[in-house]
Amino acid sequence: MVANEALGDSVAILRQIASEHGADMVARFYDTLLQDEEAQRFLSHSVVHGRLSASLLDWLTALFDEADIRDCPRLQESQRVIGQVHARINIPIHLVMQGAATLKARLAQLLSARAEPQRCLAALQLAHERIDVAIMMMSQAYVKDTTARARLDEAYRLFSIDQDVSTEKEAQKASLMEWSQKTLFSLLQGEADRGLTRLLDSPFGLWLRHRASFMFERSVIYQDLLAETQRIDRVLLPELETTGGPNQRMETLSELQAAVSRVSALVMELFQSLTALESGRDPLTRALNRRFLPAILGREIEFATANDSGLCIILLDVDHFKRINDRHGHQTGDLALRQVAQIVMDHVRPSDFVFRYGGEEFLIVLNETHAGQAHEIAERIRAALQKTRIDAGSDDPLAITASMGVAEHHGHPDQAHLIKAADAALYRAKAAGRNRSEIAPTAS
Ligand code: GH3
Ligand code: MG
Ligand code: MG
Repeated sequence: MVANEALGDSVAILRQIASEHGADMVARFYDTLLQDEEAQRFLSHSVVHGRLSASLLDWLTALFDEADIRDCPRLQESQRVIGQVHARINIPIHLVMQGAATLKARLAQLLSARAEPQRCLAALQLAHERIDVAIMMMSQAYVKDTTARARLDEAYRLFSIDQDVSTEKEAQKASLMEWSQKTLFSLLQGEADRGLTRLLDSPFGLWLRHRASFMFERSVIYQDLLAETQRIDRVLLPELETTGGPNQRMETLSELQAAVSRVSALVMELFQSLTALESGRDPLTRALNRRFLPAILGREIEFATANDSGLCIILLDVDHFKRINDRHGHQTGDLALRQVAQIVMDHVRPSDFVFRYGGEEFLIVLNETHAGQAHEIAERIRAALQKTRIDAGSDDPLAITASMGVAEHHGHPDQAHLIKAADAALYRAKAAGRNRSEIAPTAS
Protein backbone atom coordinates (compact mmCIF):
# COMPACT_ATOMS: atom_id res chain seq x y z
CA MET A 1 0.00 0.00 0.00
CA VAL A 2 1.24 3.51 -0.72
CA ALA A 3 1.49 5.87 2.26
CA ASN A 4 -1.84 7.64 1.70
CA GLU A 5 -3.74 4.43 1.28
CA ALA A 6 -2.12 3.01 4.40
CA LEU A 7 -3.13 6.08 6.35
CA GLY A 8 -6.68 5.86 5.04
CA ASP A 9 -6.80 2.21 6.00
CA SER A 10 -5.59 2.85 9.56
CA VAL A 11 -8.05 5.70 9.97
CA ALA A 12 -10.90 3.51 8.74
CA ILE A 13 -10.03 0.77 11.24
CA LEU A 14 -9.76 3.24 14.11
CA ARG A 15 -13.04 4.94 13.24
CA GLN A 16 -14.76 1.60 13.10
CA ILE A 17 -13.42 0.68 16.52
CA ALA A 18 -14.48 4.06 17.90
CA SER A 19 -17.99 3.64 16.61
CA GLU A 20 -18.37 0.03 17.78
CA HIS A 21 -16.55 0.22 21.10
CA GLY A 22 -16.38 3.95 21.84
CA ALA A 23 -18.95 3.90 24.63
CA ASP A 24 -17.24 0.97 26.28
CA MET A 25 -13.82 2.65 26.00
CA VAL A 26 -15.13 5.85 27.57
CA ALA A 27 -16.76 3.89 30.39
CA ARG A 28 -13.49 2.12 31.14
CA PHE A 29 -11.67 5.43 31.03
CA TYR A 30 -13.94 6.79 33.79
CA ASP A 31 -13.88 3.60 35.84
CA THR A 32 -10.11 3.76 35.96
CA LEU A 33 -9.98 7.47 36.78
CA LEU A 34 -12.71 7.29 39.40
CA GLN A 35 -10.56 4.89 41.39
CA ASP A 36 -8.30 7.84 41.99
CA GLU A 37 -9.37 9.94 44.98
CA GLU A 38 -8.08 13.13 43.44
CA ALA A 39 -10.07 12.55 40.26
CA GLN A 40 -13.31 11.90 42.16
CA ARG A 41 -13.25 15.53 43.28
CA PHE A 42 -14.14 16.84 39.84
CA LEU A 43 -15.35 13.83 37.88
CA SER A 44 -18.15 12.81 40.22
CA HIS A 45 -20.37 15.71 39.23
CA SER A 46 -23.14 14.38 37.03
CA VAL A 47 -22.92 17.23 34.51
CA VAL A 48 -19.20 16.68 34.08
CA HIS A 49 -19.72 12.97 33.72
CA GLY A 50 -22.49 13.24 31.17
CA ARG A 51 -20.88 15.94 29.11
CA LEU A 52 -17.34 14.62 29.30
CA SER A 53 -18.36 11.15 28.20
CA ALA A 54 -19.84 12.55 25.03
CA SER A 55 -16.98 14.94 24.36
CA LEU A 56 -14.34 12.31 25.04
CA LEU A 57 -15.82 10.17 22.32
CA ASP A 58 -15.96 13.15 19.95
CA TRP A 59 -12.37 13.94 20.81
CA LEU A 60 -11.20 10.42 19.94
CA THR A 61 -13.14 10.34 16.71
CA ALA A 62 -11.79 13.73 15.65
CA LEU A 63 -8.24 12.51 16.21
CA PHE A 64 -8.82 9.52 13.94
CA ASP A 65 -8.95 11.49 10.74
CA GLU A 66 -6.92 11.57 7.58
CA ALA A 67 -5.94 15.14 8.42
CA ASP A 68 -3.06 15.14 10.84
CA ILE A 69 -3.65 17.14 14.04
CA ARG A 70 -0.31 18.88 13.44
CA ASP A 71 -1.68 20.37 10.22
CA CYS A 72 -5.14 21.18 11.52
CA PRO A 73 -5.55 24.50 13.42
CA ARG A 74 -9.13 23.62 14.45
CA LEU A 75 -8.02 20.41 16.16
CA GLN A 76 -5.10 22.20 17.78
CA GLU A 77 -7.38 24.90 19.10
CA SER A 78 -9.67 22.35 20.66
CA GLN A 79 -6.72 20.71 22.48
CA ARG A 80 -5.80 24.15 23.78
CA VAL A 81 -9.32 24.75 25.06
CA ILE A 82 -9.40 21.35 26.77
CA GLY A 83 -6.07 22.13 28.43
CA GLN A 84 -7.45 25.46 29.68
CA VAL A 85 -10.57 23.83 31.10
CA HIS A 86 -8.39 21.25 32.88
CA ALA A 87 -6.31 24.08 34.33
CA ARG A 88 -9.40 25.96 35.45
CA ILE A 89 -10.77 23.01 37.36
CA ASN A 90 -7.37 21.77 38.49
CA ILE A 91 -7.28 18.39 36.78
CA PRO A 92 -3.66 17.32 37.20
CA ILE A 93 -1.77 16.47 34.00
CA HIS A 94 -0.77 13.05 35.34
CA LEU A 95 -4.43 12.06 35.53
CA VAL A 96 -5.01 13.07 31.94
CA MET A 97 -2.01 10.99 30.93
CA GLN A 98 -3.30 8.08 32.97
CA GLY A 99 -6.62 8.35 31.13
CA ALA A 100 -4.83 8.41 27.79
CA ALA A 101 -2.85 5.30 28.77
CA THR A 102 -6.12 3.50 29.59
CA LEU A 103 -7.50 4.38 26.17
CA LYS A 104 -4.35 3.23 24.41
CA ALA A 105 -4.30 -0.08 26.29
CA ARG A 106 -7.94 -0.76 25.44
CA LEU A 107 -7.32 0.10 21.78
CA ALA A 108 -4.42 -2.38 21.70
CA GLN A 109 -6.67 -5.07 23.17
CA LEU A 110 -9.43 -4.44 20.65
CA LEU A 111 -7.03 -4.30 17.71
CA SER A 112 -5.21 -7.47 18.68
CA ALA A 113 -8.50 -9.33 18.62
CA ARG A 114 -8.84 -8.60 14.90
CA ALA A 115 -7.38 -10.45 11.97
CA GLU A 116 -4.63 -8.93 9.78
CA PRO A 117 -2.06 -8.01 12.42
CA GLN A 118 -0.02 -5.83 10.01
CA ARG A 119 -2.90 -3.45 9.35
CA CYS A 120 -3.83 -3.37 13.02
CA LEU A 121 -0.30 -2.61 14.11
CA ALA A 122 -0.18 0.34 11.72
CA ALA A 123 -3.53 1.57 13.07
CA LEU A 124 -2.34 1.24 16.66
CA GLN A 125 0.82 3.19 15.89
CA LEU A 126 -1.20 5.95 14.32
CA ALA A 127 -3.58 6.10 17.29
CA HIS A 128 -0.70 6.33 19.76
CA GLU A 129 0.94 9.06 17.79
CA ARG A 130 -2.22 11.15 17.50
CA ILE A 131 -3.18 10.76 21.16
CA ASP A 132 0.33 11.67 22.28
CA VAL A 133 0.44 14.82 20.15
CA ALA A 134 -3.00 15.89 21.42
CA ILE A 135 -2.03 15.35 25.06
CA MET A 136 1.17 17.29 24.51
CA MET A 137 -0.78 20.25 23.09
CA MET A 138 -3.23 20.09 25.98
CA SER A 139 -0.39 20.05 28.49
CA GLN A 140 1.22 23.10 26.91
CA ALA A 141 -2.00 25.07 27.25
CA TYR A 142 -2.48 23.71 30.77
CA VAL A 143 0.93 24.84 31.97
CA LYS A 144 0.59 28.26 30.39
CA ASP A 145 -2.80 28.81 31.95
CA THR A 146 -1.77 27.46 35.36
CA THR A 147 1.27 29.74 35.47
CA ALA A 148 -0.83 32.80 34.64
CA ARG A 149 -3.33 31.75 37.31
CA ALA A 150 -0.60 31.32 39.92
CA ARG A 151 0.65 34.82 39.20
CA LEU A 152 -2.82 36.26 39.68
CA ASP A 153 -3.27 34.26 42.85
CA GLU A 154 -0.05 35.73 44.13
CA ALA A 155 -1.17 39.21 43.16
CA TYR A 156 -4.42 38.68 44.99
CA ARG A 157 -2.58 37.44 48.08
CA LEU A 158 -0.50 40.59 48.20
CA PHE A 159 -3.42 42.79 47.46
CA SER A 160 -5.49 41.29 50.24
CA ILE A 161 -2.70 41.52 52.80
CA ASP A 162 -2.34 45.23 52.55
CA GLN A 163 -5.20 47.16 51.22
CA ASP A 164 -4.14 50.35 52.92
CA VAL A 165 -0.88 50.64 51.09
CA SER A 166 -0.43 54.40 51.30
CA THR A 167 -0.83 54.51 55.10
CA GLU A 168 1.69 51.73 55.46
CA LYS A 169 4.13 53.50 53.16
CA GLU A 170 4.02 56.72 55.20
CA ALA A 171 4.31 54.82 58.46
CA GLN A 172 7.44 53.01 57.34
CA LYS A 173 9.03 56.14 55.96
CA ALA A 174 8.48 57.83 59.33
CA SER A 175 9.83 54.81 61.19
CA LEU A 176 13.03 54.86 59.15
CA MET A 177 13.46 58.59 59.78
CA GLU A 178 12.97 58.10 63.50
CA TRP A 179 15.77 55.54 63.64
CA SER A 180 17.99 57.82 61.58
CA GLN A 181 17.41 60.77 63.93
CA LYS A 182 17.98 58.69 67.06
CA THR A 183 21.25 57.39 65.62
CA LEU A 184 22.39 60.88 64.75
CA PHE A 185 21.47 62.09 68.22
CA SER A 186 23.48 59.28 69.86
CA LEU A 187 26.45 60.22 67.72
CA LEU A 188 26.18 63.91 68.63
CA GLN A 189 25.91 63.03 72.30
CA GLY A 190 29.12 61.03 71.96
CA GLU A 191 27.33 57.80 72.84
CA ALA A 192 28.40 55.85 69.78
CA ASP A 193 30.99 53.81 71.64
CA ARG A 194 28.20 52.46 73.85
CA GLY A 195 26.74 50.85 70.78
CA LEU A 196 24.23 52.05 68.18
CA THR A 197 20.89 50.34 67.58
CA ARG A 198 21.09 48.30 64.41
CA LEU A 199 18.60 49.28 61.73
CA LEU A 200 17.39 45.70 61.43
CA ASP A 201 16.60 45.69 65.17
CA SER A 202 14.57 48.90 64.99
CA PRO A 203 10.78 48.90 64.42
CA PHE A 204 11.54 49.60 60.75
CA GLY A 205 13.82 46.55 60.64
CA LEU A 206 11.13 44.40 62.24
CA TRP A 207 8.67 45.50 59.59
CA LEU A 208 11.26 44.78 56.94
CA ARG A 209 12.01 41.30 58.22
CA HIS A 210 8.43 40.21 58.82
CA ARG A 211 5.74 42.05 56.96
CA ALA A 212 7.74 43.31 54.00
CA SER A 213 9.41 39.96 53.54
CA PHE A 214 5.97 38.41 53.16
CA MET A 215 4.53 41.15 51.00
CA PHE A 216 7.49 41.58 48.70
CA GLU A 217 9.18 38.21 49.03
CA ARG A 218 10.28 37.80 45.47
CA SER A 219 10.91 41.40 44.55
CA VAL A 220 14.40 42.36 43.43
CA ILE A 221 13.88 45.76 45.07
CA TYR A 222 13.29 44.01 48.38
CA GLN A 223 16.58 42.13 48.03
CA ASP A 224 18.41 45.42 47.32
CA LEU A 225 16.72 47.02 50.28
CA LEU A 226 17.76 44.21 52.57
CA ALA A 227 21.35 44.34 51.27
CA GLU A 228 21.59 48.09 51.84
CA THR A 229 20.16 47.74 55.35
CA GLN A 230 22.68 45.02 56.14
CA ARG A 231 25.52 47.19 54.86
CA ILE A 232 24.45 49.96 57.25
CA ASP A 233 24.36 47.51 60.17
CA ARG A 234 27.48 45.53 59.39
CA VAL A 235 29.80 48.14 57.88
CA LEU A 236 28.80 51.73 58.59
CA LEU A 237 27.58 51.52 62.20
CA PRO A 238 30.62 49.52 63.43
CA GLU A 239 32.83 52.13 61.75
CA LEU A 240 31.01 54.94 63.55
CA GLU A 241 31.32 53.09 66.85
CA THR A 242 35.05 52.67 66.56
CA THR A 243 36.72 55.36 64.43
CA GLY A 244 38.30 58.15 66.39
CA GLY A 245 39.20 60.94 63.95
CA PRO A 246 36.49 63.60 63.41
CA ASN A 247 37.19 63.78 59.67
CA GLN A 248 36.78 60.12 59.11
CA ARG A 249 33.69 60.13 61.31
CA MET A 250 32.15 62.94 59.22
CA GLU A 251 32.86 60.96 56.10
CA THR A 252 31.20 57.81 57.45
CA LEU A 253 28.32 59.89 58.72
CA SER A 254 27.60 61.35 55.32
CA GLU A 255 27.92 57.87 53.89
CA LEU A 256 25.33 56.71 56.43
CA GLN A 257 22.98 59.51 55.43
CA ALA A 258 23.34 58.62 51.78
CA ALA A 259 22.64 54.98 52.64
CA VAL A 260 19.51 55.93 54.63
CA SER A 261 18.29 57.99 51.68
CA ARG A 262 18.82 55.00 49.42
CA VAL A 263 16.86 52.79 51.82
CA SER A 264 14.08 55.35 51.86
CA ALA A 265 14.05 55.53 48.05
CA LEU A 266 13.94 51.73 47.82
CA VAL A 267 10.98 51.64 50.23
CA MET A 268 9.17 54.10 47.98
CA GLU A 269 10.03 51.99 44.97
CA LEU A 270 8.71 48.87 46.68
CA PHE A 271 5.38 50.48 47.36
CA GLN A 272 5.36 51.85 43.84
CA SER A 273 5.45 48.28 42.61
CA LEU A 274 2.27 47.72 44.59
CA THR A 275 0.27 50.41 42.88
CA ALA A 276 -0.49 48.02 40.06
CA LEU A 277 -2.04 45.77 42.69
CA GLU A 278 -3.82 48.65 44.33
CA SER A 279 -5.75 48.83 41.12
CA GLY A 280 -7.32 45.66 42.44
CA ARG A 281 -10.19 48.11 42.62
CA ASP A 282 -11.69 49.86 39.66
CA PRO A 283 -10.98 53.59 40.19
CA LEU A 284 -14.42 54.76 39.04
CA THR A 285 -16.68 52.47 41.03
CA ARG A 286 -14.30 51.09 43.69
CA ALA A 287 -15.63 47.63 42.82
CA LEU A 288 -13.02 44.87 42.50
CA ASN A 289 -11.11 44.63 39.26
CA ARG A 290 -12.29 41.81 37.05
CA ARG A 291 -8.80 40.37 36.70
CA PHE A 292 -9.06 39.02 40.26
CA LEU A 293 -12.31 37.21 39.50
CA PRO A 294 -10.81 33.88 38.36
CA ALA A 295 -8.62 33.61 41.47
CA ILE A 296 -11.39 34.57 43.89
CA LEU A 297 -14.22 32.63 42.30
CA GLY A 298 -11.95 29.61 41.93
CA ARG A 299 -11.22 29.70 45.64
CA GLU A 300 -14.84 30.16 46.58
CA ILE A 301 -15.87 27.20 44.41
CA GLU A 302 -13.22 25.05 46.04
CA PHE A 303 -14.40 26.18 49.47
CA ALA A 304 -18.07 25.54 48.68
CA THR A 305 -17.26 22.08 47.32
CA ALA A 306 -15.03 21.09 50.24
CA ASN A 307 -17.44 22.39 52.89
CA ASP A 308 -20.67 21.65 51.12
CA SER A 309 -21.72 25.26 51.68
CA GLY A 310 -23.84 27.43 49.43
CA LEU A 311 -22.35 29.75 46.86
CA CYS A 312 -24.19 32.09 44.53
CA ILE A 313 -23.32 34.76 42.04
CA ILE A 314 -25.42 37.64 40.79
CA LEU A 315 -24.75 39.21 37.42
CA LEU A 316 -26.18 42.71 37.32
CA ASP A 317 -26.57 44.86 34.21
CA VAL A 318 -27.88 48.43 34.31
CA ASP A 319 -30.98 48.88 32.17
CA HIS A 320 -30.83 51.11 29.09
CA PHE A 321 -27.60 52.64 30.26
CA LYS A 322 -26.76 53.86 26.81
CA ARG A 323 -29.76 56.17 27.00
CA ILE A 324 -28.45 57.77 30.19
CA ASN A 325 -25.15 58.50 28.46
CA ASP A 326 -26.89 59.73 25.34
CA ARG A 327 -29.34 62.01 27.12
CA HIS A 328 -27.32 63.29 30.05
CA GLY A 329 -23.70 62.87 29.01
CA HIS A 330 -20.93 60.49 29.90
CA GLN A 331 -20.12 62.31 33.13
CA THR A 332 -23.61 61.78 34.51
CA GLY A 333 -23.30 58.18 33.30
CA ASP A 334 -20.14 57.81 35.37
CA LEU A 335 -21.85 59.30 38.38
CA ALA A 336 -24.72 56.86 37.98
CA LEU A 337 -22.32 53.92 37.74
CA ARG A 338 -20.57 54.98 40.91
CA GLN A 339 -23.89 55.22 42.70
CA VAL A 340 -25.04 51.83 41.43
CA ALA A 341 -21.80 50.25 42.68
CA GLN A 342 -22.19 51.91 46.07
CA ILE A 343 -25.74 50.64 46.44
CA VAL A 344 -24.68 47.13 45.50
CA MET A 345 -21.80 47.24 47.99
CA ASP A 346 -24.11 48.56 50.70
CA HIS A 347 -26.35 45.54 50.28
CA VAL A 348 -23.80 42.75 50.59
CA ARG A 349 -21.78 41.50 53.56
CA PRO A 350 -18.10 42.35 54.03
CA SER A 351 -17.24 38.74 53.13
CA ASP A 352 -18.86 39.04 49.69
CA PHE A 353 -17.11 40.27 46.57
CA VAL A 354 -18.38 42.87 44.11
CA PHE A 355 -16.57 43.00 40.78
CA ARG A 356 -16.93 45.44 37.94
CA TYR A 357 -17.53 42.79 35.33
CA GLY A 358 -17.95 45.04 32.32
CA GLY A 359 -18.86 48.66 31.50
CA GLU A 360 -22.18 48.76 33.36
CA GLU A 361 -22.15 45.18 34.60
CA PHE A 362 -21.30 43.96 38.07
CA LEU A 363 -20.70 40.44 39.29
CA ILE A 364 -21.39 39.72 42.95
CA VAL A 365 -19.99 36.62 44.64
CA LEU A 366 -22.07 35.64 47.67
CA ASN A 367 -20.40 32.99 49.77
CA GLU A 368 -22.29 30.65 52.13
CA THR A 369 -25.52 31.70 50.45
CA HIS A 370 -28.25 29.63 48.82
CA ALA A 371 -30.35 30.58 45.82
CA GLY A 372 -33.35 31.78 47.85
CA GLN A 373 -31.22 34.14 49.94
CA ALA A 374 -29.32 35.35 46.90
CA HIS A 375 -32.57 36.12 45.17
CA GLU A 376 -33.70 38.14 48.21
CA ILE A 377 -30.46 40.11 48.11
CA ALA A 378 -30.87 40.71 44.39
CA GLU A 379 -34.41 41.95 44.96
CA ARG A 380 -33.26 44.27 47.75
CA ILE A 381 -30.60 45.72 45.46
CA ARG A 382 -33.15 46.07 42.70
CA ALA A 383 -35.62 47.90 44.96
CA ALA A 384 -32.91 50.21 46.31
CA LEU A 385 -31.76 51.10 42.80
CA GLN A 386 -35.30 51.78 41.69
CA LYS A 387 -35.74 54.25 44.58
CA THR A 388 -32.49 56.06 43.85
CA ARG A 389 -32.34 59.32 41.94
CA ILE A 390 -29.16 60.35 40.22
CA ASP A 391 -28.19 63.99 40.25
CA ALA A 392 -28.02 64.86 36.57
CA GLY A 393 -26.73 68.43 36.92
CA SER A 394 -29.10 70.89 35.31
CA ASP A 395 -31.52 68.14 34.24
CA ASP A 396 -34.08 66.57 36.57
CA PRO A 397 -32.72 63.85 38.82
CA LEU A 398 -32.94 60.63 36.89
CA ALA A 399 -34.18 57.18 37.77
CA ILE A 400 -32.18 54.04 37.22
CA THR A 401 -32.96 50.32 37.19
CA ALA A 402 -31.02 47.12 36.67
CA SER A 403 -31.67 43.53 35.72
CA MET A 404 -30.03 40.59 37.44
CA GLY A 405 -29.33 36.91 36.91
CA VAL A 406 -28.80 34.78 40.00
CA ALA A 407 -27.03 31.42 39.80
CA GLU A 408 -26.26 28.94 42.54
CA HIS A 409 -23.22 26.68 42.48
CA HIS A 410 -24.29 23.06 42.21
CA GLY A 411 -20.94 21.35 42.35
CA HIS A 412 -19.64 21.94 38.85
CA PRO A 413 -15.95 22.68 39.25
CA ASP A 414 -15.66 25.06 36.29
CA GLN A 415 -16.44 28.68 37.15
CA ALA A 416 -17.32 29.42 33.53
CA HIS A 417 -20.32 27.13 34.01
CA LEU A 418 -21.63 29.22 36.92
CA ILE A 419 -21.12 32.52 35.11
CA LYS A 420 -22.85 31.18 32.03
CA ALA A 421 -25.86 30.18 34.11
CA ALA A 422 -26.08 33.67 35.67
CA ASP A 423 -25.69 35.25 32.24
CA ALA A 424 -28.55 33.17 30.84
CA ALA A 425 -30.76 34.17 33.80
CA LEU A 426 -29.83 37.84 33.26
CA TYR A 427 -30.78 37.51 29.61
CA ARG A 428 -34.20 36.19 30.66
CA ALA A 429 -34.63 39.11 33.09
CA LYS A 430 -33.91 41.56 30.26
CA ALA A 431 -36.22 39.76 27.88
CA ALA A 432 -39.00 39.71 30.47
CA GLY A 433 -39.03 43.51 30.61
CA ARG A 434 -35.97 44.56 32.71
CA ASN A 435 -35.92 45.88 36.31
CA ARG A 436 -36.18 42.33 37.61
CA SER A 437 -34.09 39.40 38.78
CA GLU A 438 -34.24 35.81 37.61
CA ILE A 439 -32.78 32.65 39.12
CA ALA A 440 -30.98 30.17 36.91
CA PRO A 441 -32.75 26.79 36.91
CA THR A 442 -31.25 24.19 39.25
CA ALA A 443 -30.58 21.51 36.67
CA SER A 444 -28.22 23.58 34.57
P1 GH3 B 1 -29.68 46.97 28.32
O1 GH3 B 1 -30.83 47.35 29.17
O2 GH3 B 1 -30.06 46.01 27.26
O3 GH3 B 1 -28.54 46.49 29.12
O4 GH3 B 1 -29.24 48.29 27.56
P2 GH3 B 1 -27.89 49.11 27.73
O5 GH3 B 1 -28.03 50.38 26.98
O6 GH3 B 1 -27.51 49.23 29.15
O7 GH3 B 1 -26.86 48.11 27.11
P3 GH3 B 1 -25.54 48.22 26.33
O8 GH3 B 1 -24.66 47.10 26.80
O9 GH3 B 1 -25.84 48.26 24.86
O10 GH3 B 1 -24.87 49.59 26.77
C1 GH3 B 1 -23.96 49.71 27.74
C2 GH3 B 1 -23.40 51.10 27.67
O11 GH3 B 1 -22.58 51.40 28.80
C3 GH3 B 1 -22.52 51.31 26.48
C4 GH3 B 1 -21.33 52.10 26.99
O12 GH3 B 1 -21.15 53.27 26.28
C5 GH3 B 1 -21.70 52.41 28.42
N1 GH3 B 1 -20.54 52.39 29.30
C6 GH3 B 1 -19.68 51.37 29.49
N2 GH3 B 1 -18.75 51.71 30.40
C7 GH3 B 1 -19.01 52.98 30.80
C8 GH3 B 1 -18.41 53.90 31.71
O13 GH3 B 1 -17.41 53.60 32.38
N3 GH3 B 1 -18.98 55.13 31.86
C9 GH3 B 1 -20.08 55.47 31.16
N4 GH3 B 1 -20.58 56.69 31.35
N5 GH3 B 1 -20.67 54.65 30.28
C10 GH3 B 1 -20.16 53.43 30.09
MG1 MG C 1 -24.31 45.47 29.29
MG1 MG D 1 -27.13 47.48 30.24
